[in-house]
Amino acid sequence: MKIVDVKASVYEWKGQTVPPQANFCTNAMDLVGSRNDTMASFRFHGWTVVEITTDTGLVGLGNVALAPRIAKVIIDQYLAGLVIGEDPWDYEYLSQRMYRATHAWGRKGVGMAAISAVDIAIWDILGKAVNQPVFKLLGGRTKERIPCYYSKLYRSDLKAMQDEAQTYLNKGFKAFKMRFGYGPAHGQAGVTENLKSVEAIREVIGYENDLMLECYMGWNVDYAKRILPKLERFQPRWLEEPVIADDIEGYAELNRMTSIPISGGEHEFGLYGFQHLLDRKAISVAQYDTNRVGGITMARKINALCEANNVPVIPHAGQMHNYHLTMSTLASPMSEYFPVFDVEIGNELFYYIFAGEPDAVDGYLQLDDHTPGLGLSLKPNLEEQFNILT
Ligand code: MG
Repeated sequence: MKIVDVKASVYEWKGQTVPPQANFCTNAMDLVGSRNDTMASFRFHGWTVVEITTDTGLVGLGNVALAPRIAKVIIDQYLAGLVIGEDPWDYEYLSQRMYRATHAWGRKGVGMAAISAVDIAIWDILGKAVNQPVFKLLGGRTKERIPCYYSKLYRSDLKAMQDEAQTYLNKGFKAFKMRFGYGPAHGQAGVTENLKSVEAIREVIGYENDLMLECYMGWNVDYAKRILPKLERFQPRWLEEPVIADDIEGYAELNRMTSIPISGGEHEFGLYGFQHLLDRKAISVAQYDTNRVGGITMARKINALCEANNVPVIPHAGQMHNYHLTMSTLASPMSEYFPVFDVEIGNELFYYIFAGEPDAVDGYLQLDDHTPGLGLSLKPNLEEQFNILT
């Protein structure tokens, strides 16, 4: 079997979007002031889809959501030529080839994200070639079904947040992730607001369910050191990305000082990136995203590293490329789950582009033993809702 074509397309949403509220989630831009819309870098309304065709007529689908137009250029100009004419079963060779050929500029960030999309499409082909779901090629079932946590609860009016938590508690979810709205720029009043929001959600879900807290890189070490002791009494399962991804020593310091497990990794890349995080004991939960970290070939190596370090892997963002790894990895106890909503920050777009994503039922996800590959297809008539760049 040989790869004969690689097509990268950018899908840019042209429909309605829900305007996010101010302070709906802290993020890395908060610390540089509010001269412009600091929430802008948080939103993305485009996606890159990669379709790889083989001489046997199979088509594999991969995708990446970081900087979609740039990812497309990287795939078109650098990666396609490295895999066309090659056997997709040589996936380790192809992964190393893409990683090393682009190493001077591609090893972290959008270069690695583009590699991820190609690698994911290759694994989709492999599953289809042997008529097996991808998780069966990665180790098979390690769990009957995948527990998942409800991931939204952006900061808004506390009553609205409580109603949202109650709605999904009633649907059977047993774990919830909420977002902080305030960081260092908001002073002690913001600390109080942050604590009030955690208390409000605990009021609804009680202490028999899990609560995760998300900072999305919007704090710094000083602020985190002051607020973490006050958060401990709410018994969060973890506190996510308190500081920017490059501040690995900051993660390590916070992870040492608090009883709350510090999580991160959705903005880390590659095997060495995670080795560094684990060596420094910077994170207690690893949260790579397969479509950023280097694809399935890279993610399975990181899973092995994390297993040996006793650090659970709970990938960022859910989605099929992550679910297949979570199903087949004992070190992965659960999945993140973005619910389907109107298009807001962009996480939801995945559901608008692809058919085949599983719905959570009673807080669990299931993968089908008989659907080959990753189980995704492009929805029909996408041109009605998207500008498509090919
Ligand atoms: Mg996150």
